[in-house]
Amino acid sequence: MKINNGAVSDAKLKHSVKGKIDVAIETLEQLQGTPQQKHQRADPLDMLIGTLLSQNTNDKNSHQAYIQLRKKFPTWKNAAEASVSAIAAAIRVGGMKNQKSRRIKKLLHEIHRQFGGYKLKGIERWDNKKIIERLTSFDGIGYKTAACVALFSLRREIFPVDTHIHRILNRLGIVRTKTPDKTFEAMQGKIPEGKSYSFHTNLIRFGRTVCLAQRPRCGICPLFDECAFPEKEKFAAAKLLAGKRRDPNFMLLDEI
Ligand code: SF4
Repeated sequence: MKINNGAVSDAKLKHSVKGKIDVAIETLEQLQGTPQQKHQRADPLDMLIGTLLSQNTNDKNSHQAYIQLRKKFPTWKNAAEASVSAIAAAIRVGGMKNQKSRRIKKLLHEIHRQFGGYKLKGIERWDNKKIIERLTSFDGIGYKTAACVALFSLRREIFPVDTHIHRILNRLGIVRTKTPDKTFEAMQGKIPEGKSYSFHTNLIRFGRTVCLAQRPRCGICPLFDECAFPEKEKFAAAKLLAGKRRDPNFMLLDEI
């Protein structure tokens, strides 16, 4: 996706980057509520594989793939001992079954080799830097997946960035980055204490309902005055398209 980063100068914007982050968090909480994490924490390895399954598909399909995988292989040892094709058959509904099944099998073997079992033993005691470094050392695991394990399972103050969050933060002018990984790096340490989960979750919902990738609904956007997106006036004037929308509140990683 092309991100137009440059046409509105910072001088024209109302707030500093920190001010914009605070306004965005507050505005999205007023608009969509303050999301709360479930009391029960998911096991970090469950979360790692659940997030791997969510790559390049929607939350509903990847949730179904995760349910089918757990149904067919109740333990990770069962999955590790199964053939790649059996894993692929179980996760078919989630898309990219061949690539993901190979990755899951390889990941489970590597975890067993490094940790002596199918558990990320000791991860609760690692600092955030070590969590990201160790998890991204596995094939197919990037910043987003590692940060999701840290935020959703380990309840750390860390802010995962997917393509949607990357898009919205660039449009708002909070970052000026080319890739989600660069946005992830730029945002660490910038989120007020206790707000990483709320901001992450609300940005994803906002990206599904208002700041859409192709036709952002700038005319109804409560962040319009804060936004640095050069085309916001054009999209504000465009007719709003009524369309079929997925449930904006369904978040796969809350369901693991
Ligand atoms: S004004 Fe438009 S581009 Fe900017 S945040 Fe709102 S919907 Fe997104």
